[in-house]
Amino acid sequence: MGMQRRGMPVEACICPNCKKEYPKTRGTPCRSQTCPDCNIPLMGK
Ligand SMILES: [Zn+2]
Repeated sequence: MGMQRRGMPVEACICPNCKKEYPKTRGTPCRSQTCPDCNIPLMGK
């Protein structure tokens, strides 16, 4: 991701279990994504 707009915070989703971060999919809530390792919903960072 080399093109970031100024003033736009980088959003990420984080797994509450293993603390691994994943890039947030635009338009998709973190909770609807799951950690492939833990198989649980992610949380917004
Ligand atoms: Zn995890």
